[in-house]
Amino acid sequence: MGFLQILLSSVKGMFPDLLYWTIPPLVPFIIAEQIWPVHARPKWRDYGMNIVIALTTSYLALPLGILAGIWSAALRPHLPWKAISLSFHDIAAVPVAGRPLEIVAMIFVPLLAHDFWFYWSHRLEHAVPVLWSFHKLHHSDELMNTSTWARDHFLQNSWRAFFSIFTLGLFFDLDFTDAGKAALFSFMFLAGLSLFYHSAIRVRLPWLDRILVTPQVHRIHHSVDPVHHNRNFADALPIFDIIFGTYHRPAPEEFPTTGLGDEYRAPRSIWSAQIGPVRDAAKLLLTKRSSERETAVR
Ligand SMILES: [Zn+2]
Ligand SMILES: [Zn+2]
Repeated sequence: MGFLQILLSSVKGMFPDLLYWTIPPLVPFIIAEQIWPVHARPKWRDYGMNIVIALTTSYLALPLGILAGIWSAALRPHLPWKAISLSFHDIAAVPVAGRPLEIVAMIFVPLLAHDFWFYWSHRLEHAVPVLWSFHKLHHSDELMNTSTWARDHFLQNSWRAFFSIFTLGLFFDLDFTDAGKAALFSFMFLAGLSLFYHSAIRVRLPWLDRILVTPQVHRIHHSVDPVHHNRNFADALPIFDIIFGTYHRPAPEEFPTTGLGDEYRAPRSIWSAQIGPVRDAAKLLLTKRSSERETAVR
């Protein structure tokens, strides 16, 4: 199937499922953050903006995501190594623990791989100015709430698709038999966790803080306080922050204010949310090129 055919069938296939996946899962978390808010209660306006960003990003990121898939499939046969493939059925053959262990492995094996990959992709988004111009949209939410989980710029998601292909995609054979099922289990777990840890619920889970990302752990990552900057990058497993020295364990009453302060105010329209970062990135690249040219002339 060619690029256009894949694009058209993906666009058709996404509606209306995308709406079911975007809105109903938010409901229990919205209720919880209205009852036990961290600071001020998020308003409908805050939720609405994030939902509109999430929906537009899903469609706008599609073309580059599909290209990433096509290029990876074309590249794989020419690699000098053989991609590693994995079958979860081997795990089911373990006596007694068999099937339950297979399901646990289906969640945690892709999760470990995903989180290692996510950690570095996310860390680069904070370190490379052009990538930060897209990722800052996620961080600009002044009242971080459960719907912030999907507040991603479309070029950020396109970058992640490319990054995954040039890291995981070239080493692992993602076409193994139950990859789809495993990815779905993992995706559901990750989405549920992300909805939870972005939520503005005043909840302390100190026993879990080093095992799974909790609302307090991720709140540190979104904090306006410079002390917290570049901390807690992991998507699900803080172990990668602990290993690579970026972990900040929240103190019992540490619930910082979120957002980017004066550095970048939350955009108020969908146009400025999606187009503003593209303009900022273009400006950055152009000033870099003109200063390079000036040095070359000198
Ligand atoms: Zn971040
Ligand atoms: Zn976040």
